[in-house]
Amino acid sequence: MYCPDQALACLLVEVTEQVLWQEIQPWLRERDHCIQLRCRVGSGRATYHSQQGARHTITYGRKMITSKRCPQQAQLWTTAREIQSRGYFGGQAGFAELMAHTCCHEFAHLVQSLNGWYRRGSIHNRGFYQILDRIHRSGTAGRVLEALRIEAARHSVSLTFDTPSGAPSDSPRIAIQRGQRVGFRYRGRQVSGIITRINQKTVRIEQHGIDGVEYFRVPPSQLDVEDQHG
Ligand SMILES: [Zn+2]
Repeated sequence: MYCPDQALACLLVEVTEQVLWQEIQPWLRERDHCIQLRCRVGSGRATYHSQQGARHTITYGRKMITSKRCPQQAQLWTTAREIQSRGYFGGQAGFAELMAHTCCHEFAHLVQSLNGWYRRGSIHNRGFYQILDRIHRSGTAGRVLEALRIEAARHSVSLTFDTPSGAPSDSPRIAIQRGQRVGFRYRGRQVSGIITRINQKTVRIEQHGIDGVEYFRVPPSQLDVEDQHG
């Protein structure tokens, strides 16, 4: 039976090899690291890097994807918090960004192990974030995201959060226009605001509150027309 999360897990494997593994080759050669990488899909939630000598393995759990497709559950994962707290991808934890970042996160563990930058009980430490920051700053993370979007489109795999009704929202469910009042979920709260600009992938929304104006950039697929949702 076709399982979209299994299909997406296979694409994570593919872009890890296509982008992260390819782009690190010069770095590995410079340091005489002679290692092998195998990326695979696991059946559970566990998503991790492991190592046996020079053989490294990155496992993407199929149920990790199922869990992260749900916006509420996604918030509970370290990777979603990292995007927001460290401002990766402009701090915008859309589902596609979250998936691309998941690859970067696991790959950062691989680099961390080569650098010897971890001890028991200290995995997500300063050295780790130094590596992860570099993967984002160098543009590699952006290329992972781009490759993922291309592969997903080619294989017709959805790169969106599940909507509460359970229907995937591949395309905007609403025709949007400037000046329109819309609502969306942001960090667990319901926000309502006015669309002030429509860009290619996101719309800019202003919310006027008691303590000033807040600005948001949101993919159209995450918007609800305000008056349909009371
Ligand atoms: Zn980790």
